Amino acid sequence: MAIVEAGEVKKTTDYERLIEYFGVERIEPILNRFKNPHRLIRRKVIFAHRDFDKILDIANLGGTFAVLSGRGPSNKLHIGHLLVYELNLYLQREYGASVYVPLSDDEKYVFRKVKNLEEAQYYALDNALDIVALGYDPKKTKFFISSEYPWVYKAAIRLSRHLTYSTVRAVFGFRDDNNPGEIFYSCIQMAHILFPEIVYGLPTVVPVAIDQDPYIRISRDVAAKLRLFKPAGLYLKYLRGLTGKPMSASEPQTCIFTTDDVEEARKKVWNAFTGGQPTIREQREKGGNPDICVVFEMFYVYFIEDDAEVERIRQDCMSGNLICGECKDRLCEYVSRFLKEHRRRREQMKDRLPEFFLHEIDTSILDKLP
Ligand code: SF4
Repeated sequence: MAIVEAGEVKKTTDYERLIEYFGVERIEPILNRFKNPHRLIRRKVIFAHRDFDKILDIANLGGTFAVLSGRGPSNKLHIGHLLVYELNLYLQREYGASVYVPLSDDEKYVFRKVKNLEEAQYYALDNALDIVALGYDPKKTKFFISSEYPWVYKAAIRLSRHLTYSTVRAVFGFRDDNNPGEIFYSCIQMAHILFPEIVYGLPTVVPVAIDQDPYIRISRDVAAKLRLFKPAGLYLKYLRGLTGKPMSASEPQTCIFTTDDVEEARKKVWNAFTGGQPTIREQREKGGNPDICVVFEMFYVYFIEDDAEVERIRQDCMSGNLICGECKDRLCEYVSRFLKEHRRRREQMKDRLPEFFLHEIDTSILDKLP
């Protein structure tokens, strides 16, 4: 199977091939260099990196670095979106990293994912509120809405002279029917990625899904020409949604939105794809298959911190000691606890949102979706 088709990276879970195709490094050799490794690192949900060993060298010598983690605001956030921001929060707390979050309303507009810029700006603030609700330090966390922050346009114009159209077309697979905004967005994205390095002189890591790597590569090439630190990458595995298909905001059954009510979320969990047997009796006799089970994946990736407990569930599942209803009940409990707590923290942070922005924002936008 080809990794790339029609310019798009296929969401394969053949990570060995992805590592080879993108020329990135496995995470294993640097695992023991992390301070208190986060569960996403311990469990290799972060499966690869590019130059993160250099970032660790800097951090271990007492230096500091930045995390650049953009968000394309075209919808409400679901728990899958929040995962990378949980990792960023760990990097902030453990290493004192500054976290920068460009909100690319321009991208969502030019790629026609929203009907107007106002809609993207509404989601920009809504998504930012979800992210800060995780517990970020306002002194070390800054957001900007791409079209509202003048530095971005000036930087993109300056950086554009270091690229050619043929490079951009080859890297992103643009065709004749792409609009000029989509093509210029590659320069905007590069400005976002290089922002902490250019403005604050901070070496930067960009945690992303591997299909976003072309943006990192192109920024690294330009950084080298400008004698800047080449941005490092941390790469997350593709995770499944509740139905077994990828989580997608446009398919609500696949994901838990941060704004779902508890009853709605409960129904989604009860319809989740599992690795269980058709009947309880067969489950008791033959055991289930946690490796294909989305409910197990939710425990493993999102909700259970204790490695020994996750392993106990795996063993109990395979031996038939556990049935799917018990797991789903437990997952409902975790999800409902998360939703209630997250909603409370969102409300609490609403008035503080401006502290996290590099420009003025109008939080009354949050009360009305355009
Ligand atoms: Fe998944 Fe639990 Fe069923 Fe095993 S018992 S297949 S872990 S839901």
